[in-house]
Amino acid sequence: AVVNRRIPEWLTIKLPKRRDIGEVTDLMRSSKLVTVCEEARCPNLGECWSKRTATFMIMGDTCTRSCRFCAVKTGKGGALDIMEPQRLAESAAALGLKHTVVTSVNRDELPDGGSHHFAETIHWLRKLLPDTIIEVLTPDFLGNKTNIQTVVDAKPHIFNHNIETIPRLYRKVRPQARYSRSLQLLQYVKQADPEIYTKSGFMVGFGETKDEVVALMEDLKAHDVDAVTIGQYLKPGKNYLDVVEYVHPDRFAEYKEIGEQMGFLFVASGPFIRSSYNAKEFSDKFMAM
Ligand code: SF4
Ligand code: SF4
Repeated sequence: AVVNRRIPEWLTIKLPKRRDIGEVTDLMRSSKLVTVCEEARCPNLGECWSKRTATFMIMGDTCTRSCRFCAVKTGKGGALDIMEPQRLAESAAALGLKHTVVTSVNRDELPDGGSHHFAETIHWLRKLLPDTIIEVLTPDFLGNKTNIQTVVDAKPHIFNHNIETIPRLYRKVRPQARYSRSLQLLQYVKQADPEIYTKSGFMVGFGETKDEVVALMEDLKAHDVDAVTIGQYLKPGKNYLDVVEYVHPDRFAEYKEIGEQMGFLFVASGPFIRSSYNAKEFSDKFMAM
């Protein structure tokens, strides 16, 4: 197949407008909170924030892992800020968020993997903003079931964990992760609490084939995942993996159709789709069921 390496016209970056994001930006600064939206310079920022969806990143800005697609810096994390869960919930309440996504760096060095910090954040959100949909996007907790259960017990509405890529590319893309461990985490959550919606996402453009993508979706389905997000990998800087292919929007549409035929409740697939993009669309849909 002919692989297109030039940045195609469908990837024209949508820059956020200050008037869409000013209020939120100011609040994040004054409450010392980190959003992935800003850190990752996400192209959807204006759209998401104006729709009252934002993704917070807890437990610091330094990750114990070094995924080759991710711009977050690698190193040893500092002490956890025990006031962070409350501050996060206060900010989410001040913004009137309708859908709050909470993610984190990996903290593999902590005995609980940061699971109690996640649980605390969920408790505070529920207390200060009872109507918001709470979605967590977690690390794999090294597969530790006690730690996964801690987050399940806090009862987020949606438990999201990204599979990121096909198994053949794990060593190149996500060296410290294991494909089967991520699948098992997703299935464990569903079995531990069937009321929690499970969700996973991956990127395309690393050189995977269509058959490999379909097989990955089948694996997610076989592990009881409810919702899937598929987006284009974009290289965040010089020292990261190269983009092998800019996948055509028609192919994304095909993946969406295939996923829907497999029976997922929700499939978001497109060049700009990120794990948390359209998150509210999914919650609107399932809350109506
Ligand atoms: Fe933030 Fe996610 Fe929206 Fe990007 S897609 S702006 S990271 S909520
Ligand atoms: Fe980035 Fe998450 Fe990988 Fe850490 S574990 S490097 S935050 S993708």
